[in-house]
Amino acid sequence: MFIASENWHNLDIKEAVKLLKTDLDSGLDAQEAERRLAKFGLNAIKSQPPPSPLKLFIYQFNDFLVWILLAAAFISGFLLHELNDALAIAVILILNAFLGFRQEYKAEKALEELRSLSAPLATVIRQGKTLEISADQLVPGDVIEFEAGDRIPADSRIFVAKNLTINESVLTGESVPASKNEANLAEKASSLADRTNMVYTGTTVQTGRGKAIVTATGSQTEIGKIATLIKEGGTGKTPLQAELKSTGKAIAIAVLAISGLVFLAGLLFHHVSASEMFLIAVSLAVAAIPEGLPAAVTFALALGVQEMARNKAIVRRLHAVETLGSTSVICTDKTGTITENQMSVHQIYLSDQMLEIEAGEVKSQFAKNLQLDHFVLASTLCNNARIEEDGRIGDPMELALLEAAIASGYDFSKLRKEWTRIDEIPFDPERKKMSVLVKSKDNLVAYVKGAPEGILQLSKTILTKDGKQPIGEAKIRFLELNNRLAAQGYRVLGFAEKKFNSLSQKVETEEIEKELTFLGLAVIFDPPRPEAAEAVATTRKAGVRIAMITGDHPLTAKAIAKQIGLDTDLKTLTGAELENLSASELDKAVRDTAVYARVSPAHKVKIVEALKKQGAIVAMTGDGVNDAPALKKAHIGIAMGEVGTDVAREAADMVLADDNFATIVKAISQGRHIFNNLKKFILFLLSCNISEVLVLLVSVLFASLPIPLLPIQILWINLVTDGLPALALGADPPEENLMNQPPRQPKDKVLSGKNSLMILEQGLAITFGVTLVFLLSLIGFKDHISTVRTVVFTTMVLAELFHSFNYRSSTKSVFSYVSFKNRFLLLAVLSSIVLQLLIIYMPFLQVIFHTAPLELKDFFLVVFGASLPLLIVNWIKLRRSRQKIIY
Ligand code: ATP
Repeated sequence: MFIASENWHNLDIKEAVKLLKTDLDSGLDAQEAERRLAKFGLNAIKSQPPPSPLKLFIYQFNDFLVWILLAAAFISGFLLHELNDALAIAVILILNAFLGFRQEYKAEKALEELRSLSAPLATVIRQGKTLEISADQLVPGDVIEFEAGDRIPADSRIFVAKNLTINESVLTGESVPASKNEANLAEKASSLADRTNMVYTGTTVQTGRGKAIVTATGSQTEIGKIATLIKEGGTGKTPLQAELKSTGKAIAIAVLAISGLVFLAGLLFHHVSASEMFLIAVSLAVAAIPEGLPAAVTFALALGVQEMARNKAIVRRLHAVETLGSTSVICTDKTGTITENQMSVHQIYLSDQMLEIEAGEVKSQFAKNLQLDHFVLASTLCNNARIEEDGRIGDPMELALLEAAIASGYDFSKLRKEWTRIDEIPFDPERKKMSVLVKSKDNLVAYVKGAPEGILQLSKTILTKDGKQPIGEAKIRFLELNNRLAAQGYRVLGFAEKKFNSLSQKVETEEIEKELTFLGLAVIFDPPRPEAAEAVATTRKAGVRIAMITGDHPLTAKAIAKQIGLDTDLKTLTGAELENLSASELDKAVRDTAVYARVSPAHKVKIVEALKKQGAIVAMTGDGVNDAPALKKAHIGIAMGEVGTDVAREAADMVLADDNFATIVKAISQGRHIFNNLKKFILFLLSCNISEVLVLLVSVLFASLPIPLLPIQILWINLVTDGLPALALGADPPEENLMNQPPRQPKDKVLSGKNSLMILEQGLAITFGVTLVFLLSLIGFKDHISTVRTVVFTTMVLAELFHSFNYRSSTKSVFSYVSFKNRFLLLAVLSSIVLQLLIIYMPFLQVIFHTAPLELKDFFLVVFGASLPLLIVNWIKLRRSRQKIIY
């Protein structure tokens, strides 16, 4: 095997190249890479293994409520010799567990797929070409490149490092980034932290850039060996699931208490046999427990997440779905999110000349001269983008600068060959500039580009047609020009240079950005996305505020804000102003600030914190490595899928596959929709449970009548005839006024006081209808208790099926067209009715469910009893909605 060394850090880079049979410039060729992939396998570390299917199935029984039911089945089976019932209950519970298992398994699979959608890419050089490939395709010997924000995709030996610092806390626990370089290590470095010429899988690039040869992949990497699991987007419980869990607990306790009391009361006051009373207690327990609920919730959430992914919003943490629905402020980046990030240089301003560029051509009269030569050197050498035969790689703004150079008649590849880069101070959004130190045959020069104010401030001189002159009043002229152009929505970039006297001069990094010679401005156009204005209008109707946070000039930001219809009457705040505000002043300022400009990522954290203090639910976008803290702080961190760094993506709750602001707004609307649907079927199911408990309680406690429904019948209702419409409500199409309402307050629980009252009313209405039918049929079929129960059973089923239509709309009558708009619901109701008929008429099902065949006339009573609650609930709903009391 050609890969022998464990101690790559001790080897000279040439030895490493030899051992790994690779080439520093051209990397591996495609066939060799393929061969190695077959030999070494995918470069992937098994993340948290998903629970095995068996475990997932068994997990379905790990629920207090299910235990109660199982205990009931056990007791009635063995102590009361109702073996038939016990078996039926057990079968139904297993069936339910199976259904729950299927939903969860599907949900888990869907989430796994989503995770792979946001899997990191790696930049690799193969056959002399720079490619972006999925990180799991890397093999030992590959030459990789990385820069700030990237996650290191494989253990690798560094051979180029520019201001490279790596956050290795996943491996070493040390949160201060480690400085890295390509130098050989003199001594054996035993600990990972000392291996300064290596980078390891899972660590992240904090600053700078580098190139390295892959030495180990997959499970052979350091992190693979110690099998540390890289933290993935969690699928932990959402707030709603947590609320349901605690509600479930409360129901369980109530069930036990009520059933126990009824049991005792029955024994003491009604002189019923213990076995009969136990049956009633079990029925009550079964009636109260919403058996199908957890599976339906998981299913609806997973369905929603998939739907959102189809719309380009990839949810990494399930809670985001719910939180999106209550988002009240979106803090969004400008560049690439609101704008297209399709940049082009429109003008170049030199000290006494202006070039107008349009569609790749210079439109104004111009002649190549020294000033332009220097400007182009600055704009193409202080630039990391590349335009190669088979593609364009890099920052859109830097690509636009290369295109402007081509338009002005320069061959930048030639220039790049003539000049060698010696040092680089990478772009950093805090500093808002970038510099390089380059050397040609006879010159050593530093080129700097960045926000014009900063560049002008550092400039002592300016390059004019008469050579280098003191900058003097030109500084003010250019600052004014900068403001004028920014106010038109342009992004303006300044350029400068510094020439060193001697070629062999040793230049310290700090010296590079001092006493510069100003070269000129590039005026860059980045149009707003066409869909941004409509998305902004939607958020306004939906009561969601927008705060645009950008590193760009305040006037540029304001102009773009105006173009997309943001409320520009609101204040604009710059990073410098923000810095000078006290905490309480900032709290006040965030209330009416719509544009934050020239801010750095650290300011984003302050803004989120202040907004959170106001009680806002904040969604925050970000793409850079320094954005991660703000993304974590926000209620919903949103990272960019196209331009975002791995670090930002890992910190985020949601990733935008298309980086588009409109996608956030769509996701909010979907979040609201999903939450509404969840609310619908949760309330529907619970109102049905209430009616079942009340029907039992009324007949047993108040009238001392025989038990109207048997446990097996109730279990059937809860799981099947209710369960199907509940699932269908989970797929309900959105209501029209979804985005015309203010966001939901997160403290508004699904089971708020109002909603609890509403489902109690609905439960009472159903109880009224069913009990009436019970009493009437008791008179009619005195001696045929199984016929009475079949009538009650069927009335209950039909009443609840009818009731499901009430949840189609919170305002419209159940008799309007809305009832028929959800095809799934119609199908679910029809299937439930067919199943019910089977239970009534199939002899072997009659034995299991203790039913008796009904005659046609009995159905008049059934339909009458089932329709009453529908009419009552609909009447209450319409009255409320007219009074604008909408839940
Ligand atoms: P956002 O995505 O936050 O809306 P942005 O792209 O405007 O923003 P940054 O990327 O932080 O914000 O850039 C801030 C400023 O830094 C820009 O207005 C520009 O003047 C300067 N700048 C941006 N990119 C570079 C770069 N690659 N080199 C030098 N300067 C840059």
